[in-house]
Amino acid sequence: TVGAVALDKNGNLAAATSTGGTEFEKAGRIGDSSMAGIGSYADNQFCAVSTTGDGESLIRHITSFHIAALMEYKELSLQEACDFLIDIKCKNEKGDMGILSIDPNAEVVFKFNSERMHRGCKSSDGR
Ligand code: ASP
Repeated sequence: TVGAVALDKNGNLAAATSTGGTEFEKAGRIGDSSMAGIGSYADNQFCAVSTTGDGESLIRHITSFHIAALMEYKELSLQEACDFLIDIKCKNEKGDMGILSIDPNAEVVFKFNSERMHRGCKSSDGR
């Protein structure tokens, strides 16, 4: 996956996700990356999310939208929402799941249940 989330100076949040798919994938399989609310989701009030990992697991949990919904309806912070989804809701999920996300205050959260997730972060003020 190559995924990105961004917050612009006007408070707009955006997310984008692309993928090469999975190894040995069946012809006709549609992965999660192209699905709004799963591979990517952005709502200026709550967060922008891009996901990577096992598409079937990510689809099962409607992952990107789920993070925003936890923030909206359970009033969790972005960190709490990511922790809840991966550590509690998906604790028995066998697939790898990775989340990159940002909220309207420019808090960036990376959360994953895999051994590693390559990632980077850049702020316009050089942080
Ligand atoms: N999520 C992708 C898929 O299952 C794989 C990836 O790029 O992480 O198709």
